[in-house]
Amino acid sequence: MSTHVLILGGTTEARALAAALADRPACRVTTSLAGRVTSPARIDGELRTGGFGGAEGLAAWLREERVDALIDATHPFAAVISAHAAEAAGHCAVPVLALRRPGWSAGRGDVWHDVRSLPEAAELLPELGRRVFLTTGRQGLAAFAGLAGHFLVRSVEPPDPPMPAHTEVLLARGPFTVADELELLRTHRIDVLVPKGGGGAATAARLVAARELSAPVVVVRRPPVPAGVPSAPDVAGVLAWLDGRADHGR
Ligand code: NAP
Repeated sequence: MSTHVLILGGTTEARALAAALADRPACRVTTSLAGRVTSPARIDGELRTGGFGGAEGLAAWLREERVDALIDATHPFAAVISAHAAEAAGHCAVPVLALRRPGWSAGRGDVWHDVRSLPEAAELLPELGRRVFLTTGRQGLAAFAGLAGHFLVRSVEPPDPPMPAHTEVLLARGPFTVADELELLRTHRIDVLVPKGGGGAATAARLVAARELSAPVVVVRRPPVPAGVPSAPDVAGVLAWLDGRADHGR
């Protein structure tokens, strides 16, 4: 009998998981995307796009499509969909697992300032630097809109206004190497960085570059995984969890 796995996606890890599951003979795999990115990278297996209509909508989808396991592989900062996943899975008694890349932690030579939100980051910035490299995603720039410094904003899709008066937008999709990031920071004379603390190797290069230049980094901490939802740090961990559940069900 085939097992239907629904992956809530939008991350590199979700794509890698879909590829790993698509190779399995008795597995139907569907990835769900919010539909924010106009031309997402190719994904193995089935694809559905757009919101479900809250936790109830997601629960209805789980039932109608007979989903056997739900993997929340969304970005660590996508807290709303993660809460819906936990709630919907609870309603339908569908096992749920969060795939969360390990978070970053400061190493030797890092000058890090931890904050809990974008407004908190904005409050701290003026005392740290005037040329800011902002990679917190296309949304939420309003938090920085009142600041006078020069902002270099890098995102995959054009960022939503309002944004700071002196903003330069760089549209690009990673991964980036440390050499790329060093060149960018030097060219734009960046003196402070604001990434979201999403973790993951694909985005860590800018942190290594910041360390080399002794530039301060304001790290926005990620929200916790919803209570009661177990998590795995990588694709191998998710596969082991799925196999463990299958063995249990035999
Ligand atoms: P969010 O605030 O947690 O979710 C807002 C709403 O978007 C949800 O209530 C849901 O609508 C819909 N949604 C989100 N992810 C979805 C998915 N994978 N499939 C179907 N519907 C989804 O989410 P967000 O922070 O805007 O992120 C949206 C997507 O971008 C996620 O898939 C995430 O993995 C990806 N992403 C986010 C970030 C970030 O920094 N937040 C960074 C990179 C990628 P309904 O209530 O109608 O179901």
